[in-house]
Amino acid sequence: MSSYLDASAVVRALAPDEAIILNRPHAAERAARFFAEKFAGKSLYAVKANPSPELLRVLWDSGITHFDVASIAEVRLVRAVLPGGTLCFMHPVKTASAIREAYFVHGVRTFSLDSVEELDKIVTATTDALGNPAADLRLCVRLRVSSEYAELSLASKFGIDLADAAPLLQAARQVADWLGICFHVGSQAMSPFAFVRALDRVRAAIAAASVVIDMVNVGGGFPSIYPDMEPPPLEDYFAIIHRHFEELPIAYNAELWCEPGRALCAEYNSLIVTVEKRRGNELFINDGAYGALHDAARVDWRFPVTCLAGDRSGELEAFSFYGPTCDDADYMEGPFYLPGDIAAGDHIEIGMLGAYGAAMRTGFNGFGQGAAIDVTDEPMASLYTGERVQPVSDNVVSLR
Ligand SMILES: *Cc1c(COP(=O)(O)O)cnc(C)c1O
Repeated sequence: MSSYLDASAVVRALAPDEAIILNRPHAAERAARFFAEKFAGKSLYAVKANPSPELLRVLWDSGITHFDVASIAEVRLVRAVLPGGTLCFMHPVKTASAIREAYFVHGVRTFSLDSVEELDKIVTATTDALGNPAADLRLCVRLRVSSEYAELSLASKFGIDLADAAPLLQAARQVADWLGICFHVGSQAMSPFAFVRALDRVRAAIAAASVVIDMVNVGGGFPSIYPDMEPPPLEDYFAIIHRHFEELPIAYNAELWCEPGRALCAEYNSLIVTVEKRRGNELFINDGAYGALHDAARVDWRFPVTCLAGDRSGELEAFSFYGPTCDDADYMEGPFYLPGDIAAGDHIEIGMLGAYGAAMRTGFNGFGQGAAIDVTDEPMASLYTGERVQPVSDNVVSLR
């Protein structure tokens, strides 16, 4: 793949009229090394955040060996790209055929669940043709926790309530070679306190069930940086998680896991778009809700922007974007701050689209097929360069 210095160099060389994804392998490498070295446990990459094979290889080369996969297609993809990777099937609702193929064909041993029905399904699907049940299942019971500290909630769909968790943990313990508890505090958790509250719930679940726990998986939710969303340092999250993990009543050799998606890949991609038309402070651009800007449209997520036309010098003004499809919902309110004299034909770089951005592109209405190109400059913001101004972490609170 050809490599350029930065987005401006790409525009000068190619004058693209289709949206172009930019890859920054060095940024993903830095994020992976940060987790591999600083998190006091195992860091799984949550593949759904960005399943790009190039990215998977970068993460693997940078110390990420375990992958959280949620569908049989993700299992096959990661197995094909990384034959040595350890795959963990962490979607709590799976089909029997997906479980069977994952276990017998792809060597998956770790499965999550949040109901007795799913437990039965896993046991049946992993029983061999002679009727012998699997003796090496590593099961992970997903607990429902609050999403109150997260920008995107994951609290309503999955997870067993604390009040119902004990019988499920006991039943899983009967068939599991290795038993874990997992949760997800919601994506872009802006305070480490989210994990404290969740780990308190884990403690209560273990106490109620009185079972031996071999692993605690604190899930994803680790933040990245966006306009008006500057989180405390990730070290604060790691420290508070480790401290509360150490205090749990679990096996002496119990493992601590986490499953970052966003934090490992947000800095990996940005996007070059073209302004097709200007109407007041609304810019019609060639990517949108059905492209990499899904969250900008759906939940008004703000992404950083830069005008790539060198001679625009107007004062920054607030703009909103329309995407290219004929759907009125293809609208991103922003505000996105760009030079007031920006005009049709100009290019814009939109940053921090590696997580749930590049991965969300569809071909709806004939748009979204643009190329991907490597660049070597820094992402528009980074949690990992050590250069950003660190906010005072006065929202790091401990219950004990
Ligand atoms: C989506 C997901 C993740 C990753 O979440 P981020 O907020 O991107 O870190 C981790 N674990 C599970 C089970 C998920 O569904």
